[in-house]
Amino acid sequence: MPAVETRNLTRRFGDVVALDRVSVTIRQGEFFSLLGPSGCGKTTLLRIIAGLDAADAGELLLDGAPVGDLPAHRRPVNTVFQSYALFPHLDVHDNVAFGLRMKKVPAPEIKRRVERIMDLVEITPLAKRRTSQLSGGQKQRVALARAIVNEPKVLLLDEPLAALDLKLRKQLQLELLDLQRRLAITFVYVTHDQEEALVLSDRIAVMRDGRIEQMGGARELYEKPRTRFVSQFLGSCTLLDATLDSTRGDSFTANTSLGRLEVAGPAPNQPRFTLAIRPEKIRLSTQAAHEPEPANTVTARIEQRIYVGSESHYHLRAGSQSLRAEAMNSQAGPAPFDQGDSVLAHLPSAALIVLDD
Ligand code: ATP
Repeated sequence: MPAVETRNLTRRFGDVVALDRVSVTIRQGEFFSLLGPSGCGKTTLLRIIAGLDAADAGELLLDGAPVGDLPAHRRPVNTVFQSYALFPHLDVHDNVAFGLRMKKVPAPEIKRRVERIMDLVEITPLAKRRTSQLSGGQKQRVALARAIVNEPKVLLLDEPLAALDLKLRKQLQLELLDLQRRLAITFVYVTHDQEEALVLSDRIAVMRDGRIEQMGGARELYEKPRTRFVSQFLGSCTLLDATLDSTRGDSFTANTSLGRLEVAGPAPNQPRFTLAIRPEKIRLSTQAAHEPEPANTVTARIEQRIYVGSESHYHLRAGSQSLRAEAMNSQAGPAPFDQGDSVLAHLPSAALIVLDD
């Protein structure tokens, strides 16, 4: 039984189609992310699941049952917002206990559950503090505790870490993942941060203009993007316009601005198509290293080298085509290539991806 299922959900705001027939099936215990640029409909979908907004058309099922007009507080879900939305007049302990008190849970049980959850998210020492006396990271822990203490079947998280600085965000990502595994609650997580989605998710739905463009496991989406949009939004890619030259069993040859390239896999059905390659798959070497040149190798000039500590990013040019490459700075001493250098760029045939558009 899926934890959450939407069937052709549509939501319009005037002329804007915020959701356009969105169908997703989210499994029990899954860490599922909605990833996409600002305005693509992520928050709208989350709000409809929470019961904070209603769809114009389509169906929503929680735990296999249609929710119909069930109000937000009767759904087995809780939401954590980027803005924390804590009660300023209550201390940390009472913020966490609030939902259980409203539900008239017996006091000893409230005590037990609140203590356990506060321990779990490591805020026990802050119990008596006002929420105005907390840092952003501490506030978000309180917001998480306040949601989890209700033992929801599904936890909805709307960019919960977006307001935090990078280091804290990375630390909390790992804690969140650990928490999700231990509690076995289904998480539906909204983010526009592609790296965050890759780190956290069992599966990701990449959204664009109110539709789901592609859905799959993190690795699958990264290694096999189907469209230009997904290839560019999730990581970066060099895109090459290509035409089919010839086919051979399980590979084919394409004509591109870099010349003829061997591509592993079945040939596309259409004569014109786009090839994509991730920057870290392009192998750079000095001219002397390869004699004779292997297939799929072009001469390129390094137009820019960006040093980012553990690795370097290269902007290359081969004739009219620009290329993006990345390489680890793993050797001792300076990185092997510099601005202005002429290098050989090898594009392995198995690293070239055929896109649908
Ligand atoms: P962000 O990452 O910026 O929060 P999002 O992907 O969550 O974006 P939504 O908030 O779901 O996007 O918005 C989807 C579209 O619907 C946008 O074009 C937005 O302007 C529009 N929209 C959302 N809520 C309303 C509303 N209450 N009234 C009018 N338009 C709305």
